[in-house]
Amino acid sequence: MSRICSAGYTGSWFGVLAMFLATAAQAQEAVVPEKPAALAEAEAPGPSDGASGAPPLAAEDAGELHIRLAQDDAASRSTRDQLQRLLETYDVAPWIWTREIVIDSGGRVIPHSHPVLTLSTRHLRDDELLLATFVHEQLHWFVDRHDEALALARADLAKLFPEVPVGYPEGARDERSTYVHLVVCYLEYRALIQLVGGLRARWVIEFWSHDHYAWVYRTLLERGRDVGGIVAARGLLP
Ligand SMILES: [Zn+2]
Repeated sequence: MSRICSAGYTGSWFGVLAMFLATAAQAQEAVVPEKPAALAEAEAPGPSDGASGAPPLAAEDAGELHIRLAQDDAASRSTRDQLQRLLETYDVAPWIWTREIVIDSGGRVIPHSHPVLTLSTRHLRDDELLLATFVHEQLHWFVDRHDEALALARADLAKLFPEVPVGYPEGARDERSTYVHLVVCYLEYRALIQLVGGLRARWVIEFWSHDHYAWVYRTLLERGRDVGGIVAARGLLP
């Protein structure tokens, strides 16, 4: 009897696993544009980027992040340790454009990229969410260095999505920022797939789609291929 139950359990476990793998494969397929890597690389940075299209910091430089605590408290110290552990575990060098990091445990702190990349202490129990936030804020530094390509991508996205939400929780602070976040959050999703795999990347994006920029993340789950096509065509792949 126990053998039968065990066999049944194994069967359904494989079924669930197969479903998860299919979902992960789908996520990967949906978000990564169908484009040979060499072509995508040849397109980025675009001809208009000039000197502003600086590459990410070299690996040895990226390893030396300057992490400062806004408050020297337990949550901030733990988040700093968590971030350092994540940076040792995952090769994030391709997604580092600024080395100055602040960790701020203030209750109302929302992670942001400028003037100094600032993280909150909200994700102590969720490595993937802290990693995603770190990469997201770094990607703002990347797209800021490609403002002409970003403006073209925004125009393309406005044709695809003529009406976008503004304000929390569905959109960003204004229309322009919501379009920028289609690009930044797409690149975040793409980076996460490379860093933690398609399944965990999708979990993060689904979590965010109920948390903030909800429409943006939901759109990436549903129309990731379309957004990715524009981002790649405008040479905005790091
Ligand atoms: Zn952002």
